[in-house]
Order: sequence, then structure tokens, then C-alpha cells
Amino acid sequence: MSDKMRPVPFEELLKQALWEYRQKGSFFFVPVEKIDSQIPKVHLSGKEIESPIGPAAGPHTQLAQNIIAAYAAGARYFELKTVQIVEGESLGLKKPCIYVSDEAYNTEWSTELTVIQALEEYIKAWYLLKLLIKEFKLGDPEGFVFNMSVGYNLEGIKSEKIDYFIESMKDASKVRAYQDYVRFTIEHLDWFTSLTREYVTGLWPYISNTITLSTMHGCPAKEIESITTYLMEVKKLNTYLKCNPTLLGVLQVRTILDKMGYEYVTFDRESFEADISFEAVTELLARLQTVSKRVKVEFGVKLTNTFPVRIKEQELQGETMYMSGPALYPLTIGVAAKLSEAFKGNLSISYSGGADTGNIGAIYETGICPITVSTLLLKPGGYRNLTRLNKALADKPVKQKQSIETELVKKLAEKAVQDTRYFKTDRKKEKKKLSVTSYSPFCSKCRNCVEVCPNRANQSYEWKQKSYVLHQDRLCNECGTCSFFCILGHVPYKEKFTEFYNREDMQESDNDGFYRKQERFTIRIAGQVHTGSLTELRTISEEVTEILEHHYANNRTDYAG
Ligand code: SF4
Ligand code: SF4
Repeated sequence: MSDKMRPVPFEELLKQALWEYRQKGSFFFVPVEKIDSQIPKVHLSGKEIESPIGPAAGPHTQLAQNIIAAYAAGARYFELKTVQIVEGESLGLKKPCIYVSDEAYNTEWSTELTVIQALEEYIKAWYLLKLLIKEFKLGDPEGFVFNMSVGYNLEGIKSEKIDYFIESMKDASKVRAYQDYVRFTIEHLDWFTSLTREYVTGLWPYISNTITLSTMHGCPAKEIESITTYLMEVKKLNTYLKCNPTLLGVLQVRTILDKMGYEYVTFDRESFEADISFEAVTELLARLQTVSKRVKVEFGVKLTNTFPVRIKEQELQGETMYMSGPALYPLTIGVAAKLSEAFKGNLSISYSGGADTGNIGAIYETGICPITVSTLLLKPGGYRNLTRLNKALADKPVKQKQSIETELVKKLAEKAVQDTRYFKTDRKKEKKKLSVTSYSPFCSKCRNCVEVCPNRANQSYEWKQKSYVLHQDRLCNECGTCSFFCILGHVPYKEKFTEFYNREDMQESDNDGFYRKQERFTIRIAGQVHTGSLTELRTISEEVTEILEHHYANNRTDYAG
């Protein structure tokens, strides 16, 4: 078991998506839902998109299959995971990096991939979506937006590597990977029924013309202004500046968290003192609005960043972790109210901070748009929670507003601190586990481990009116999420029967599992390794060989038709 996930090649993802939609109507184990026509279209970054919701920059927008799974569930606004000059292994990210309670915490900020890998994943996802939407008539191929995210200082953002990333996202036509995907598609047009050569060659790969700037807590105001101005003036990008919940002020944050049952959350007063003040940020934002008007790009704020808190009980490794989810909701909507009042509603707000089915309609009604989520997708339901958010919007359709209705946001902020749904009650603090004596490594009892995995690394299959779950080693980055939702108290990513890509991967892991080389399988059961054909291995374990036989006879994706 390795904590390095591996991007899946374009050809494999395409085969899997075509096969799975034709067989089961899903992409990467997420049922494909068309957008309810009740949801009014939204105009963002020069595009008309089919829904204002999507995944926030984070674990759900790191790999191409995650982005496609989110689209399947109804996402149309995708905030891609942040790239920065420090990349891949140099990040030194410690695993697990996600801790999910009622609220969630993480210690990851930017992509674990290298900048080039991240670029290729985003181009791959964008292009696959264009193909799949057209092939299966899922909606408007133009009806979604990719918002890129960069950090964390001007020097890094101006570096050759990050500049290449930004320019290639603006126009990927010269990127070798994109050219290879197009060539491959044209050579395999017989895999499709609706796709034409004209459509494929007519696509122009403007992957993204919009960006969110992330800066570190404590970043000086002058630096924030220089980067944002650079992104608008020089890069001509529609730009969102991510602001911190610290804008609410230390006293108000402490009061809200205590009142709502999060009194155990501790944080450093210094992080408030180091961050830009509310007064300074309003002056800065006003200047940036002037720049955006002059260079004719959109400008707004992204509310909010996650909230830095102290690690007290070894929830994760290190000293600081970043809080998100329901506990962030009153803080983020509070900042939205404060800024909306200061700007009399004339400041665009992109929102992320504890949105759920209970508040999304009201948030959207204020004029805030788009709205993205991450913690919600890490909980049972997983990506399908996006479908529920769209349903909540369709139940009470509201047209996109041109400005923010300040009074509505203020009311929402007042209501948020009274609403017991966002309180941390004792009931929520308890973790119920079923008590059982036996556990199968193929367990599919609740499928929570399948749903909550951002990377689709736990995969569920039906068989003999039963189902089994296989763990995919190469997709798992050991984020830890699935271990919080196993109703039997197990750690799925360490205990499930695992499919390995090759011998080396199997040797790096202690998990029981297998890898396949043509018709020969190497399986490890109870630590013992055996090699042979499935017929030869039957004497070792009837259950395992039967499941693998079924798996390869029914779930193989090495054909597209
Ligand atoms: S299998 Fe579990 S630990 Fe691995 S990526 Fe998925 S949720 Fe994270
Ligand atoms: S979360 Fe646990 S109980 Fe549920 S299917 Fe996965 S392994 Fe089984």
C-alpha cells in the first residue's frame, strides 16, 4: 500500500466511462444525473452553465476521474485543486491528511501531483467531458466551467512552471497530451455512436479562463494585491481572491464556535493578527474592482478558505490542521454578510463553507454564485450529495442575481448561529459502530467506503444478488476518509482485498490482494503469496477465485462496446 495515487491513462478512463455508462448509466460508480430543467442557467466567466454548484478545490478535483464523477452527480462548476511551485513529493505531505468528524479537518493544501501531472489531469478531464457529454447527450458540452487555482506568492506564480500551467490551461492546443488524446479519439471513432470527426477536431481547448488565488495565512496585503493585479492585468483572467474566515475577528469567531458546541476547537490568536484586517481588505478589494473594470475581466472574492486550528489529539500529524464543513458555515456566511454590507452588495462572491441541502437554496437566493462543497462529498452519499444539492435548488428555483442582496445575507448569517442543525451536539460526537465478529475483505455491507472515497478507489460490484468491494491500490492516496465511515469499525483502505497494478505495488503493501499478468494471477491471502491461473488457485481460496472469475468475466473494460 502506497500513499501515492497514480493518474490513470486517458485510454483507460475513456474505456471505463464508455463501458460503465452503457452498462450501468454511471461514471466511476456515480450514477449520471441530468440537470433538472427547473434550475435556471447561470452566467459565469463568459459561459452559460447548467448549475451553479460543484466541488471545491480539494480531493474531489485532483484526478480526472474525480472530476468526471462530480459531473455525473450534477456538478457544473469545478474548482480545480491548487497548483504551486512546490510540487509532488517535495510537498512532504503526511498521510492520512483528512480527518472527518461532523466537521472535517485536513492538512493538504495543494495538489499532490506534479504541476505537469495536474495540468494533464485537468486537460484530460475537460476533454473526456466534452466527448462523454456529446456521445451520451448529457447536456450542453459548453455548460460547465473549470476554475483553476494557484498559490501562493508572486514569485512562484510568475515562475516558468506555473506560467506554463496557466497559459496551457488558457489554451491547451499546443500541449502534447491534448494532441495525443485527440489523435487517439480520431483513431477510435468506432468506439462512439454519436461522435464525429468534425466535433472532435472542432473543439478548441480553452480549458479555463478563470482563476482563484490562494495565499498563505499571514500573506502581506501588498503581495495579495500584486498577485491579483497580475492575474487580471497580465494574464487576463477572471479572478477570485480567496479570503480567510479570520476576517470575522477573533472575538466573534470564538463566540460563535463556543455557542455552537465547538468549544474544543482551539486556534492561535496570532493567525488573526497576521492576516489582513477587515478594513485593509475592503480598501484592497475596492482597488482590485477598479483594475478588473479597466481590464474588463470579472473579479470577486472566494469565501472562504478553511480555518486553521491546533492539532491537539493527534487527529492528524503536525501542529495545524484546517477546518471545514458545518462548523465553517456560520463563519463563512458571516464574512459574506460583513463584506456584502461594506460593498452594498456590489462585490461578487463565490462561496464554499458548509453549504448543504438545508442552506444552499437560501445562499443562492442572496445572489452568491457559484457555490462549491468538499466536506459534504466526504460523507456518506459522497459525490451523490451534489445531486441532492441540485434537487434542493430545483425545488425552489431562483434566477441568478446581478448583485448580492445584503439584507438576505445578513439574515442568513444571523440564522446560521441559531440553527441547531449546525451545532455540535453530543449525539454528533458519538461514533456508532456495529459490533460484529467476522469481517470479509470483500465487505459491501454499507458501501460507505465506496461512496466517500474521492478517488473512486473502493469499487463495488454486483454478483449473485450480492455485491463485493475491491480496493484499487493505484487510486488510493491514503487520505484516510474511508476509515471514518466504516460501520464495522474497520480501516477499509488497509483491510480490503486490493487490486494492485503490478508486482512492485503489491510488494510495497501489506494488504491482501492480487495483480494480474495476462491470464496468470498472483494473490496474497493471509500474507501468503500464490501464483497461477484462477483454476489453479481455486484450491487456495474458492471465494477469492470465484469473485475474480466473475470480476474479469463481467466487469472488464478492455473493450469499449
Ligand atoms: S480508499 Fe480511503 S484512504 Fe484511499 S483514497 Fe479512498 S477514501 Fe482515501
Ligand atoms: S465501510 Fe466498512 S462496513 Fe461499509 S462496506 Fe466498507 S468495509 Fe464494509
